Amino acid sequence: MDKRTFLKTTAIVSAGFLLKPDEILGFNSASDVVGNQVITEFTLPKLAYSYDALEPHIDKMTMEIHHSKHHQAYITKLNEALASSTNESYKKSSLETLLANISEKDVAIRNHGGGHYNHSLFWTLLTPTTKPINEKLLTLINAKFGSFDNFKDAFTKEALSRFGSGWVWLNFDNKNGLSIVSTPNQDNPLMTSIYKEFSNTTHLLCLDVWEHAYYLKYQNKRADYVKAFWNLVNWEEVGKRMS
Ligand code: MN
Repeated sequence: MDKRTFLKTTAIVSAGFLLKPDEILGFNSASDVVGNQVITEFTLPKLAYSYDALEPHIDKMTMEIHHSKHHQAYITKLNEALASSTNESYKKSSLETLLANISEKDVAIRNHGGGHYNHSLFWTLLTPTTKPINEKLLTLINAKFGSFDNFKDAFTKEALSRFGSGWVWLNFDNKNGLSIVSTPNQDNPLMTSIYKEFSNTTHLLCLDVWEHAYYLKYQNKRADYVKAFWNLVNWEEVGKRMS
């Protein structure tokens, strides 16, 4: 039984009560019952820090618009797309399962579901109180890239060469070790039905390189935004994703 199914089942026995959100990484859903009809929808996860906490690297207004407007819009449109979808299995899936099985043809769910997942994850990977990277990950980075600075250069290069909007990822798999890739739009490494190469891959770190993530402060200077990002990486959280 996945979490959304559990929430639905629980919703039936506790009819009329709004249930606590599933807060695993913020990929939450809330369920309620109207008559005999169970309504399940995704809701905006709270941030672990205030909108101005990432200043001066990411400014308050960017964070506020990014979270409360852009991220919320992905969630609203994802809920609408799921409500009008004829694919019943999509409606019963957790967000992760939904994205793993998404078809290229389901453009709205792919874009808005990806948008909800990517932003929910991204917020957890930022922190105003960054700590040193953990030893295990640093060892892997040194083995693959030669040094931590080389790794940052490679990640930055990928961020700058991603044309248009997209995301940069640090992935890990047992065969190849660490790798840096980018995806267009709101696609992500969970979408293994579309991107076979991401099967058996864990994504450890991500960076939003859409202009809405940096334009107010950095305008066209994406490189400056990426440079600032290194001051905010939540290495503790990245480390947890490895284990
Ligand atoms: Mn964004």
